Amino acid sequence: MQRPDEYVVHGSRAGQMAQPRDLPAVDRLLREPVVQALLDEHGHTLVAGEARALLDALRPAVVEGTVPVADVAVSRLSDALEQRLQQRLQPRMRAVLNLTGTVIHTNLGRSLLAEPALQHMLAMMAGPNNLEYDLDSGARGDRDTIIEELLCTLTGAEAATVVNNNAAAVLLTLAALARGREVIVSRGELVEIGGAFRMPDVMESAGARLVEVGTTNRTHLHDYENAINERTALLMKVHTSNYAVQGFTKAVSEAELAGVARARGVPLATDLGSGSLVDLASYGLPREPLPQEMIAAGCDVVTFSGDKLLGGPQAGLIVGSREMVGRIRKFPMKRALRMSKLPLAALEATLMLYLRPERLARDLPTLRMLTRPEAQIRAQAQQLLAPVAQAVAPRFAVSVMALKGQIGSGSLPVDRLPSAGLALAPVQKKGAGRALDELATALRRLPLPVIGRIAEDRLLLDLRCLEDTDQLLHQLPLLQEALA
Ligand SMILES: *Cc1c(COP(=O)(O)O)cnc(C)c1O
Repeated sequence: MQRPDEYVVHGSRAGQMAQPRDLPAVDRLLREPVVQALLDEHGHTLVAGEARALLDALRPAVVEGTVPVADVAVSRLSDALEQRLQQRLQPRMRAVLNLTGTVIHTNLGRSLLAEPALQHMLAMMAGPNNLEYDLDSGARGDRDTIIEELLCTLTGAEAATVVNNNAAAVLLTLAALARGREVIVSRGELVEIGGAFRMPDVMESAGARLVEVGTTNRTHLHDYENAINERTALLMKVHTSNYAVQGFTKAVSEAELAGVARARGVPLATDLGSGSLVDLASYGLPREPLPQEMIAAGCDVVTFSGDKLLGGPQAGLIVGSREMVGRIRKFPMKRALRMSKLPLAALEATLMLYLRPERLARDLPTLRMLTRPEAQIRAQAQQLLAPVAQAVAPRFAVSVMALKGQIGSGSLPVDRLPSAGLALAPVQKKGAGRALDELATALRRLPLPVIGRIAEDRLLLDLRCLEDTDQLLHQLPLLQEALA
């Protein structure tokens, strides 16, 4: 027997506009064989909900008389329903290819986790674990135990604790050690890092009174000394990671300040921002201060991020003296900022990689990418030149180009990483801006979206972070199709 919808489509009304009565009821749509298969796979709740939403979305246009009869045929509607379901089940969080040239890109998720970190996380999350359980005594344990010994070994600190991120580490340190009292900071170090994290505001949130000393470009030891009084709770240094003051400048080092702190009986904290547990200079990279140096210099508390140069998960690491870390750990706010088991597993495995520093440049993706030789990146660009050129021809001309990348995440903003990549330039000068936007959009719409950067009328693909050439190569036919 002919089905009513086919009769409608193929009958005398083909080409006419649909009437509201042509829209099937939800139940009618759900009885379609194709939709039955969808129901088996996804269940009634999702499929019926999307079917209703689909029909509701169509109705106003049908009432207006602007939808051809063919478009409300049940077979057509079930196709549309299947598409809707696919979209609905597509996660918002997507893997992308970072070809921006910025290795630790905050908008693209910062550091990539090392394989052992991924494995450990998966193994620990698949079932119960000893997060807060002491396997020796069978008594309740403390989650800090998981990483404290490792962090102390790596930094030389007496004690360590971790929270959600470094912003939380700074907030907690200030609240625990200086609530209702004064914190002395140089005017040259009142930083704002992205996302509304400004040192003066953090002080206020923590309930500490900021006492600014020195000037934007120069702060001396006596500036700190003169500001210390009986209300002083903390001397604070902040690593100016995302900008540089050059020229007539003077800052007091942690080592110099530690002497004063000790003599006056005031603790000294330093926020390193990124912090790196290995000397980057030994890899030919610009140097960042090391937490272990700060501990050796006499800092009582050192805070740094887990997902910047450390190359681990989002985390705020706090290392320092037993007394100060103990006060921080016991402060009630710690409970609200504590780290979840998921990143904690990743952090433990990441820190463990540092026990074998000789292998680090191989094992840690962030360091591996930061240390990729320029010649190797250039060779990769040469290899990709012809296939990419073919995919974007005739609208874009492609060339291999020397590029300057960045470490990223606020670290070392003045230093650039010599890199290489492909420059894609519109052939037609007229409408070049629009062509570039179209190209960038097409790249972003690939199954594994490709994120480059536009500079000087070209789209640049920095290949430093492309460890698997095939990830780009295999998508070129789709790119070609999108641009045709
Ligand atoms: C990045 C940074 C922070 C914040 O660290 P998150 O881990 O992103 O919360 C704090 N202070 C400084 C100096 C930084 O560079």
